[in-house]
Formats: sequence, structure tokens, C-alpha cells
Amino acid sequence: MKKNFDIIIIGGGHAGSEAAWISSQFGLNVGLVSSPNAGLVSAPCNPAIGGVGKGQVVREIDALGGLMGIVADKAGIQYRTLNESKGFAVQSTRVQVDKELYTKTAEELLSAVPNLTIVREMVRSVDKTENGFQVVTEIGSILEAKKIVVTTGTFLNGKLHTGEEQRAGGRVECKESVGLNQLFKEIQTLPNRFKTGTPPRLDRKTIDFSQLEPQESDSTTRNFHSMNSPFSRAAKQVSCYLTKTNSQTLGIIRANKERSPIFNGQIKGIGPRYCPSIEDKAFRYTEKDVHHVFIEPEGLDIDSIYPNGVSTSLPKDVQESFIRTIKGLENAKILVHGYAVEYDVVDTSQLNRAMEYSSIPGLYFAGQVCGTSGYEEAAGQGIIAGINASLAVLGREPLILDRNNSYIGVMIEDLVTNKRDEPYRLFTARSENRLYVREDNTISRMRKYRRALELQSELDEYQETFLEQVELLENLVANTMYYATKENREYFAEKNYGPIENNISFKELLKRPDNNPISVLEVETKRLGVLFDLDVIRTVAISTKYEGYIDRAVVETERINRLGRKRINWESLADSRNISYECKLRIKQIRPETFGQLQRIEGIRPATLAYVAGNLV
Ligand SMILES: Cc1cc2nc3c(=O)[nH]c(=O)nc-3n(C[C@H](O)[C@H](O)[C@H](O)COP(=O)(O)OP(=O)(O)OC[C@H]3O[C@@H](n4cnc5c(N)ncnc54)[C@H](O)[C@@H]3O)c2cc1C
Repeated sequence: MKKNFDIIIIGGGHAGSEAAWISSQFGLNVGLVSSPNAGLVSAPCNPAIGGVGKGQVVREIDALGGLMGIVADKAGIQYRTLNESKGFAVQSTRVQVDKELYTKTAEELLSAVPNLTIVREMVRSVDKTENGFQVVTEIGSILEAKKIVVTTGTFLNGKLHTGEEQRAGGRVECKESVGLNQLFKEIQTLPNRFKTGTPPRLDRKTIDFSQLEPQESDSTTRNFHSMNSPFSRAAKQVSCYLTKTNSQTLGIIRANKERSPIFNGQIKGIGPRYCPSIEDKAFRYTEKDVHHVFIEPEGLDIDSIYPNGVSTSLPKDVQESFIRTIKGLENAKILVHGYAVEYDVVDTSQLNRAMEYSSIPGLYFAGQVCGTSGYEEAAGQGIIAGINASLAVLGREPLILDRNNSYIGVMIEDLVTNKRDEPYRLFTARSENRLYVREDNTISRMRKYRRALELQSELDEYQETFLEQVELLENLVANTMYYATKENREYFAEKNYGPIENNISFKELLKRPDNNPISVLEVETKRLGVLFDLDVIRTVAISTKYEGYIDRAVVETERINRLGRKRINWESLADSRNISYECKLRIKQIRPETFGQLQRIEGIRPATLAYVAGNLV
């Protein structure tokens, strides 16, 4: 086995696999060291990729050359477009995946990379050496690397809870890893551990689907990987189903409060506020007994069903009782009981925006170990950590994503700017610019970042051609007029485009509130005798529709950001006599690189901001 690498990635989950996939594209010698008893890129919780805000992240990863979109398209068994009623700007793709096929596809793709060595061993320790790092595994292998990316998920010092039962573990049937402080002694962890939970898995054969409301796969939802034909499907499509909890369900949960590890003090870790367990919901919304439960298949050939919405760590007998009160689940058999896991989290305020631990250059972190929750969040950090570890090996500048044009940029800046006091999830409201940071214009937003990697591949050719087409179509739209002739009046009436009393521009036609800009642009380009790719039409149509709002938002954001982008020297601020002791402490902890980052640090006083703003050059 190879012992010396340019980069070693520890952990082969969503974060680690993205890091390994992208690093190997730079032609470096990459080692991916991951536990032998968890499949690579496995889905320990909800077998679905994407969702509100997260669909954008998957497409951003895809535009950078990542793995997630390619694998999700291969394993997708039900497609949905979320927020369809809320307008194009905030729509997101969500794909239910066959979790076995997902892992198998990812393992095949990763194993086929010639300069990537996959080592299935548990890592016991990481130490700094003169030229890099030394990794020692539990069975005694010694591996060396110039850079390390740590992506150990929920495994560090992992502890599982199901009611009174407690055991060590990274997730069900997986051994835990040593704690972060044993793995790497000099790392600062958060004082509070985090926790996440998962629902029981049900036996498909014991569910009465005739009582449930089906949700079919949507054939008009687009694939994630930009180079796949948008509506092709690699796997068979199936339905998910909808049911609800009721007063009996919540009654059982409320009656067992003292047996719940999250309420009786057994679990100390902090859970995700935005992804509460059913017992959290029972006591947070005491007046509400009806909560949606989505019945989702975990695969085509497996009988396991994921009841989305009833994540729990209640004792097994309580889980069995409350599940059977739900319509359609009266005879449901539990295959694996729900549980919660507590784990160590690195203090991300010690990282810079390249995902590098500031006081230990060459050591990068990504994924759930950074206090986030979710596959897409993990993968988004993983690709950036992998890119920056690679650029550092090559002696090049790091890639830093801006929060104004990517959700990954929003997430990373949020992570490194404050100490986390709860698990972090992405949602659209975290972005100041969400009318612009959309799924349909991902290539336009991300091209400059992918170009900066200087990886010339088919993807780069595809993106360049795509943007040339976008530019051509934008010009066509900008330079076409509809004159108020008799013929056009009749044509507008026939197409239901609204009246045409005076000449109107193509842009105005697309912006009319009652017109669907995508179908109008499709019809009109055909009428003009020009053919464009459907995705090009989509991005130009939606961008034109929201042009006014986006332009206004850009001016406003630009005004706010002009100061925000200015670079600051945190070391001199930390020495300044004009800044309070408390603010200096926060500045030393976080090491902000820009004025914007300083502004977003909790606890920085207005007087400090005024002083720094007054001294910006
Ligand atoms: C019980 C549970 C419930 C969850 N609930 C949700 C949810 O509701 N919603 C949601 O979005 N997400 C949920 N998640 C989180 C989701 O699984 C993660 O966000 C995502 O998988 C994180 O990806 P990652 O790559 O950071 O870590 P993981 O996917 O956990 O991967 C970590 C990898 O590192 C390996 N590893 C760990 N330590 C070592 C070591 N010392 N040596 C070698 N290899 C090591 C592991 O084997 C694993 O392959 C849940 C996870 C669990 C376990």
C-alpha cells in the first residue's frame, strides 16, 4: 500500500468523498482513509438529496466539478420541485435516492480514480511532522501527507441513545471514533457536543399504502448534473406517500416525557432547532397534534421505509406504540429503532474561509464535524476543503466563495465567523441575495470559480458553450421588439400574452406578471427560427423576469458590501488601544479577514465597527 500522499482525507462520507474526488482531479496523490464498517458516501438518515436551499448547493457542487449531482442522478427514484407555488426564484430540487445504489455508484466512481487510494481502516491519531502530517490507523498503518482534510461526521466520541439504552457508536451498527482531542491534540472543540437523531425504519410489507396519499415522481424536475439530459431518469421511479400524526400519537409521546433522553438530562448535546425530533415538536407546539409524516422508500429492492418527520430517541416500546397510532401504520413493524447520536464538534471560528485550521496550516475540516447537519452542507464544505488543500499543495492561492453569489459561500462565512451554539443548516433566508442565488443560473454564478481551478475538462467546455448561448439569447431578447400591428394584436390575443396597445420589447413581454416567461421564451424563439437548449432558455427567462428586483438588490447589496469587502488586519486590531478588551478577544478568536466578517461577529460593539470603518483604506 502507498504510504506517502499529497493529501489524506479522513472519513469517506459526503464531505470526505467530495474532497477526495476534486483533489484527485488536480492530478495529486490522494488517500481516502475511512472506517471499514460504513459504506462510502452512505446516507445514515433521510435518503434524499437536495431540498430548499440545498438543491442550490448540489448544483453549485456540480458546477465546481463535484460528485453529488452525478451520483444523485444515477440513484434518484423520486424527483420533486419544492416551492413550486412560490415562484421560480426560490424553487429547489429534491431527489429521493436508493441509498444502496447511491453508495454503490459513489464507491465505483471513486474506486476508478487511478491517483486515489482508498484505505478502509479507522484512524487513531494525526500528528504534525516537519513536512506535513502523520496519520496512524487502529491496525498500525502509518501514512504521511502534506495536507490533511478531516471529515469524520458524527463519529468522534460518538454516543448513541434509544431511551434508557446508551452505547458508544458513530451511527447504528458503526463503531465510534476516538474523540477529536485524542485524534489531534491541539484542536479546539466546542464545549457543548451536538446531537442529531433519526426515525425508526419500517417494514414496507407491513404498511397499508391504500390509506396513504401518494406523491408521484415529477417528470418535469431537472436532473442535478448539468451534463445529463435534464429529464432522463437512470433508475425506476416510485412514489413517496403522505400521512399524519394525531392526538393519540402525541398523547403517547407527551405521557413518556420522563423516559425521553432529550428531556430527562441523559442527552447533553444540542440538537438541530430546524430539524426537531417528534418529542421536540410535541413539547414545542403543545397545541398541535397533527404533523406531516412522509413515507419514503429507502431503495427499490429493500423493504426499509423511512418515515420522515418522526425522528426520535424515545425508548423502543414507546416508538412501537406511537408509530402504530398513525394512519396506514397500524400494523407497521419496526426494522431498526430510531436513535440519537452525540458527537464532538470542532470550533469553526478557528477555521478560515478556505476551511483550514488557522493555527495549523495544512489541516482542513469539513462536514458534520464542523457542526453542520445535512449531506449537502457536508458535501459543499468537502469540495471547498479538497480544492483548497490541493491548491495549497500546488502553492496556489485559496479559492474563497463569496456569500453574494453562492450558498456555499454563505455557509462557510457563517461557520467561520461565529462560534456555533447549535447545529447549522442552510435555508434560503440565510442568503441576503436569494433572488439571485438560484438553481437555474448556477453555471453563470459559479463559472468564475470553476475557471479559477484551471482544470480543463469536458465540464469546462460544456459550461463555456452554455454561457455563450446564454449571452446570445440575452442579446436576442434585448434587441427584439413587438410592434403594435394588427397581425401582432391577433397573435398576442391567440397566445394570451395580454394586450399590445403600443410597441413592446421582448423583455417587457417576458416580465408581464401573467406570462410564464419560460414557455413564452420557448415559443417565441421557435417562432423566430432559433433553437436554444432548454436550460439556456430557462436561465434567461427567469433572469429577465426578476431583472428589476435583482438589479435593485444588487445596488443595495453592493452599497452594503462595498465596506464589507474591504480587507482588515485582525492582528493590528487585536493590539489596538481603541478597541475594548472583549471585542479584541472575539477578534483574536475569529481572526476576521474582511470588514463584513467583523460586522457579522456576535458581540462586536458598534463603537468598534465605527472605529474600524473610519480607518479603512
Ligand atoms: C443518526 C443520524 C441522524 C441524522 N439526521 C439527519 C437529518 O435529519 N437531516 C440531515 O440532513 N442530516 C442528518 N444526519 C446527518 C447526515 O448524516 C450528515 O450531515 C452527513 O452524513 C454528514 O456527512 P459527513 O461527510 O460530514 O459525515 P458522515 O457522513 O458521518 O461520514 C463520516 C465518515 O467518516 C468516517 N470516520 C469517522 N471517524 C473516522 C476515523 N477515526 N477513521 C476513519 N474514518 C472515520 C466514517 O466511517 C464515515 O464514513 C444524521 C446523521 C445521523 C448519524
